[in-house]
Amino acid sequence: MIQDNVKRVMEEIARAAATSGRKPEDITLVGVTKTVTAVQAKELIDAGVTNLGENRVQSLLDKYETLKDEPAWHLIGHLQTNKVKYIADKVSMIHSVDSLKLAEEIDRRFQMAGRTANILVQVNVSGEESKFGIQPEDAFPLMESLSQLKNIQVCGLMTMAPKTDHPDDCRKFFYGLHKLSVDIRGKKYDNINMGQLSMGMSGDFREAILEGATIVRIGSALFQ
Ligand SMILES: *Cc1c(COP(=O)(O)O)cnc(C)c1O
Repeated sequence: MIQDNVKRVMEEIARAAATSGRKPEDITLVGVTKTVTAVQAKELIDAGVTNLGENRVQSLLDKYETLKDEPAWHLIGHLQTNKVKYIADKVSMIHSVDSLKLAEEIDRRFQMAGRTANILVQVNVSGEESKFGIQPEDAFPLMESLSQLKNIQVCGLMTMAPKTDHPDDCRKFFYGLHKLSVDIRGKKYDNINMGQLSMGMSGDFREAILEGATIVRIGSALFQ
């Protein structure tokens, strides 16, 4: 059943990619395993999903014990500064950087681990109070500071759209994140890459891809 879900989601990703003039391989599917066991996560890997995402450090560590480096791990949820040390040698990308203080700790811990951290800056483009992420206008000074950190590679931006029954309503937020990434690129900060846009979940990944997503984070549609 997981296999069927993966096939269906991958087909839908390919269709949305084609509609937006891109290839299926231009979009990375991150399978979000926060609601399932390591055994089910392993089924996802066997079905061809090689990037897995967890929103909490502890649940990532739990699954890491079983699955080790078999998938590439993505930390997609809010990250507390004091927990960076547990994941520095394990994750391939952190999607949720929303302060300089957090980035400085990531820089420090990844240096100790002898690695460069691939990070995305999380932006709150919808203005919802409950959501994490920086305000769009704060992205510019933050990028300037991040460009000085030697063990951090900024790879792009991430956002979460508000929950809605009408995913079309989210297109303006996805468009907003895309536009912000273009504006940041225009500033030509040293060492800041805007190649990745992590946006779109089970309910709205098609709309996100149409607006330029390169990474979609999908959980429930794979495990329903
Ligand atoms: C849970 C979660 C997802 C996946 O949500 P679904 O609606 O289950 O696809 C994506 N991104 C983040 C940050 C999440 O916490």
